[in-house]
Amino acid sequence: MSNEPKVNGRPFRLVGLPGDGIGPEVYASACQVLAVLQQGHGLRIELDEQLIGGAAVDATGDPLPQQTIDACRNADAALLGAVGGPEWDRNPAEQRPELGLLRIRSEFSLFCNLRPIVTHPALHAFSPIRAERLQRVDLMIVRELTGGSYFGKKWRDADQAEDVCRYTRPEVERVTRAAARIAQQRQGRITLVDKANVLETSRLWREVVHRVIGEEFPDVSVENMYVDAASMHLLTRPADFDVLLTENLFGDILSDEASMLCGSMGLLPSASLNEERFGLYEPVHGSAPDIAGQGLANPYAMLLSVAMMLRHSLDCPAEAALLEQCIYGCWSDGLLTRDLRPDGLTTAQVTEAVCERLSTPTAAQTGS
Ligand code: NAD
Repeated sequence: MSNEPKVNGRPFRLVGLPGDGIGPEVYASACQVLAVLQQGHGLRIELDEQLIGGAAVDATGDPLPQQTIDACRNADAALLGAVGGPEWDRNPAEQRPELGLLRIRSEFSLFCNLRPIVTHPALHAFSPIRAERLQRVDLMIVRELTGGSYFGKKWRDADQAEDVCRYTRPEVERVTRAAARIAQQRQGRITLVDKANVLETSRLWREVVHRVIGEEFPDVSVENMYVDAASMHLLTRPADFDVLLTENLFGDILSDEASMLCGSMGLLPSASLNEERFGLYEPVHGSAPDIAGQGLANPYAMLLSVAMMLRHSLDCPAEAALLEQCIYGCWSDGLLTRDLRPDGLTTAQVTEAVCERLSTPTAAQTGS
């Protein structure tokens, strides 16, 4: 990922991928917020809506149609709702909605997955972790997304199975640089999580990460931590982490564990980036078929994904911070959906509240 601004005065090209279940509902919230940012904050966005997942299977027989791929090739970023649902569960493997997601990640070499984990005092009560351990938690998990055992050679016979975990130097170098650039914008501290006492791939990671950081990022520090220890420390002293860098499988597990710090799946955004800075931005949650179509979806994860897009693909850190501030203000004022409180608001009411704060920036200061 280069540090150069990408958009250069032309409108930002965004592909919208509503998807399935609550995907289109939280996607609609994002569109409302983007409209306010365009009207009041000078953002210029060309939005091209395309199909993915079950909706794409129904329309074309393919969970990632060529037209969607072509649209993303011409775009700066894609914003995805969610994919999947019981109506497609019996489909053959090549027509499963989730395949659309896996294919877009590999089609665009989205090797760098970012999951910010930020706790907020108004939400401490919703976490299973004690409130005193949640103070000042603000960590970024950087997970390598296109290598390791998920993509290595696999085979199985009647009595044995194997998943090969393979990493190359360039794969480790590029995600290390991405993590270091993010660390430079934060506290400058990377925790490299691995299993170097047992795994050869982890020993390669250690060698490469320390060399790249030592040679290219003198202002960034790296500490090593075994994955078993990290899984404990994430729960006992989460506020000590700044940037947590790790490989695909460890990152998958640790990022779900860390999500428990925040209180609800409906609050967690993510970004997956490639070297050209194309980014796929999406909430961490799935399509929640159990609440789809009822106006109950929590849109905050999606709106925080929009903030990540403003920061990482649009070079608009001030607008990203403003949107986050509006969201945190809503949390402080108790404006939450029903996954968090029984008398909670609807998706539309929460979206309205965020838009109102965005339109009158002094209102963004309400709450903390
Ligand atoms: P899920 O995240 O969809 O739902 C888990 C639980 O959390 C449900 O009770 C749901 O109601 C609740 N929930 C999730 N997001 C919420 C939100 N924004 N607001 C309020 N409540 C919310 O996970 P699941 O039930 O295991 O999977 C459902 C479908 O989603 C499956 O088809 C799965 O394959 C798919 N899925 C897609 C993605 C993705 O698109 N990135 C990720 C995970 C799962």
